[in-house]
Amino acid sequence: MVGRLLRPTAKLLPKDSRAHNRSLVLQHLFHSGPTTRTRLADASGLTRVTVADLVKDLLAAGLVEELEAEPRGRVGKPATRVRLRVEQFHIAVLDLTGGDEVHGAVVDLSGAVITRRVSHTAGLRGADALDAVQRLAGELVADAAMPVLGVGVGSPGVIDASGTVVDAPNRGWTGVPLSARLGSVLGLPVHVANDADVAVLGELAYGGAGPLDVMALHVGQGVGAGVVTNGHLVRGSNFAAGEVGHLTVVDERDGDIHDPYRLGPPLPCACGRTGCLETILSLPALRARVEGLDEAGRSEALAAVGRRLGIALAPVVAALNVGEIVLIGRTDLLGGPLAEGMLTMVRHRTMPVTSAGLTVRTTSLGEDSVLLGAAGLVLSEELGFS
Ligand SMILES: [Zn+2]
Repeated sequence: MVGRLLRPTAKLLPKDSRAHNRSLVLQHLFHSGPTTRTRLADASGLTRVTVADLVKDLLAAGLVEELEAEPRGRVGKPATRVRLRVEQFHIAVLDLTGGDEVHGAVVDLSGAVITRRVSHTAGLRGADALDAVQRLAGELVADAAMPVLGVGVGSPGVIDASGTVVDAPNRGWTGVPLSARLGSVLGLPVHVANDADVAVLGELAYGGAGPLDVMALHVGQGVGAGVVTNGHLVRGSNFAAGEVGHLTVVDERDGDIHDPYRLGPPLPCACGRTGCLETILSLPALRARVEGLDEAGRSEALAAVGRRLGIALAPVVAALNVGEIVLIGRTDLLGGPLAEGMLTMVRHRTMPVTSAGLTVRTTSLGEDSVLLGAAGLVLSEELGFS
């Protein structure tokens, strides 16, 4: 994919520079498919000698293979193409966003699902929930028929860079070192991140995200955002970047009958406050809002939520100049009037230079966006690209 190259963000040490160059080569092979060393050098801006050297290492590591020579149809030695061996490695992935069940899968590097498993976790909290997750992870690793590159987990809550769940109220987890615990049991690299954060990495790796500055808004039982700028996940000083679900977006003025957005008065939120984004945008909130309405009423109700979402996100779009917002969740609710209402309001409230090129779409990964996001997290952490 043109323009999808990682860009260095700081002065790199020689050793880091080699790792960075290796990631550039892998990223190009991942997104653009088999190609020659010469084209890899042209696309990455690296010298042919550097590329040849890196490919030699990748061949030795079994990550790439050489294909039959590409016929040229004219004089000259045919060039050998190299290819990422996407089906020769597996990733075990877990999606912990479900309340009553936890979904797991084994995927290959291309994101193809090899096997799936579900663990019923209704009523499980604390250590019991942790045991269930650990059991499922072990079963998935046992399912894998190829060497496992790593284990990826997307979980609701605030999760620090070491994969410790700082706070996940839905499972009663506080300070749970999930990555370290699974890693010591499984003997594999384990990477854990917030569900919206992994979802945005999934969009980069598997969802066809165009720009390198993307926001994914994950709408399920709660609402969270994952943000990538210049290809890097934004985590924040307390690892809570993108926790937009409890922004206050509805206040007393909305009870006014002249309210053009017709959102009604602020509703109580699970966090103890009122009028949070989750009270109008979570899956249960959206379902309640459109229940019993005819088609026109449904469209207007969803557009009203979209416009209010646009008001909330406009400052974020202006601050970060993201090029794409991906809505992740039920497409029948999030696409159409809601997405259009949001984009209209963001454009209305920001400079054209900020938002004229902004695109809004629903995810193409469907129900698997967190699972494939967890795979994207492992690619990013283990191979250095997304
Ligand atoms: Zn709240």
